Amino acid sequence: MNAAANAAPRALRGRLDLCAINTATLGHRAPIATVIDQVARAGFGAIAPWRREIEGADVQAIARHIADAGLAVSGYCRSTYFPAATVEGARAAIEDNRRALRDAATLNAACFIMVVGSLPPGSRDLAGARAQVSDGIGALLEEARTLGVALALEPLHPMYAGDRSCLTTLAEALDICDALDPAGDGGIGVAVDCYHVWWDPALAASIARAGQGGRILAFHVCDWLVPTTDMLLDRGMMGDGVIDIAGMRAGVERAGFAGAVECEIFSAANWWRREAKDTLSVCAERFQSVC
Ligand code: ZN
Repeated sequence: MNAAANAAPRALRGRLDLCAINTATLGHRAPIATVIDQVARAGFGAIAPWRREIEGADVQAIARHIADAGLAVSGYCRSTYFPAATVEGARAAIEDNRRALRDAATLNAACFIMVVGSLPPGSRDLAGARAQVSDGIGALLEEARTLGVALALEPLHPMYAGDRSCLTTLAEALDICDALDPAGDGGIGVAVDCYHVWWDPALAASIARAGQGGRILAFHVCDWLVPTTDMLLDRGMMGDGVIDIAGMRAGVERAGFAGAVECEIFSAANWWRREAKDTLSVCAERFQSVC
């Protein structure tokens, strides 16, 4: 049992230091250096960058900038998809992820977010894709432990099962964790993203199970809009949709999660069209009122 289990949920009012901004929330429109300063200036305690902002740049300099701005790194997004049509392709994906894992360590990220992929083009072999995912994650685990960056398996909503993620429930993610880490040595766990798992009838049971294994590595928030007009780019601001975000946060925190609560919104038609400082100010207000 995790030592912090059953603790009361934290109050977020006046505690933006407990809150993180995933840089996707701002639409990847500005250079990472600008985004780091904007997030720090708005008072948040952590940031979650994406590989597109980091790779090919001076990773150590970015890590220093983040630390100097007073920000922690709540997670590093995200893995290259594991399933591939060929053995060489699968091997290349693992090596790609190994390089990204090293960058995650340089950034001092709390975890490396694993969005695992699904069917390669032309394939109908879902079981095969799942096997490649499990094998790929297993191939990275030892290095993750050595580097001190845990692998956070993020199940995605089943609407993405055909392409982005054959991993769709927390229970499946925890099964992989238990299979690869039967002794509970760590280095592997789950990212609970309320957008992806809020509908799951087994959610409460899976969160409790994840907590008992000390496996909750990240908690992502945004909202499910009704109607949703785009499968990928129409996520809602917290409070604008139908997810009981506060209830879910209470669940993960009672289960022992003590990391930053991370806002991750893909919103091409709305939030990405606004000024970054305005989006950040609404995020700050909603963190403190509805999360
Ligand atoms: Zn997420």
